[in-house]
Amino acid sequence: MARRFLIAGNWKMNMTAAAGAQLISDLTAQFDCGMKCADHDTKGGPEVLVCPPFTTIAAVVKAAEGTVLNVGAQNIHWAEKGAFTGEISGEMLKEAGVNYVIIGHSERRQYFGETDETVNQRVLAALANGLKVVLCVGETLAQREKDITDEVIALQVKADLAGVTAEQMADIVIAYEPVWAIGTGKVATDEQAEEVHKNIRALLAKVYGAAVADATRILYGGSMNAKNCAGLLAQPDIDGGLIGGAALKPVDFATIIKTAKATVK
Ligand code: PEP
Repeated sequence: MARRFLIAGNWKMNMTAAAGAQLISDLTAQFDCGMKCADHDTKGGPEVLVCPPFTTIAAVVKAAEGTVLNVGAQNIHWAEKGAFTGEISGEMLKEAGVNYVIIGHSERRQYFGETDETVNQRVLAALANGLKVVLCVGETLAQREKDITDEVIALQVKADLAGVTAEQMADIVIAYEPVWAIGTGKVATDEQAEEVHKNIRALLAKVYGAAVADATRILYGGSMNAKNCAGLLAQPDIDGGLIGGAALKPVDFATIIKTAKATVK
């Protein structure tokens, strides 16, 4: 089955509202149609997503009006409301205009104590609120060196998706992000990335069946940029990218989008 590429930008804690709106304007200017036609330019364009910080979402949603851009958030809390200082609910995100949410990013796991259990609760809350999920999983350098990458990823995928039905998998995108490659400039080789993606798809087939596994998009994340994206995107099981640093550079992000569009599998 042909899976449509998803090129997603994670802006992390960068971009004020004004800077975010400017970035959208600079990005859309890289396309003849200003990303205003359904396939931005001609047929076969990837789905594109940008995930700004919470306080920048409203300005980005406004700047993206009339374009094909999707706007997402970088986290969600599982409760509907209540005494959870610093957190944000699905209802609040929907009201702000997002349709995707990144969950389980390694920086959340590493610096903010997120576990597979809390990641799973956030995933279920996002789905209950009608939000699509970009679920991040990945091994540390120590785990890769111990040769336990596949076990680590399988445990994460299974725990993070506990209670997610086969039907709900239509709203789940998995991002494989080796922790050692995020923000470090060290990118997984095309083969290293493809091997893990293939194994994730095989695991999905065991849990959900072949049709779900075949339809689920699995993104690569970790220092993907305008120069290295072509080889990664050409891999059979890589269905797009979750991009940090390069998503803040409109020309580079546009190049990745254009490369996805030009990639035939
Ligand atoms: C990320 O934030 O998910 C990421 C992959 O960052 P970078 O592209 O900067 O490595």
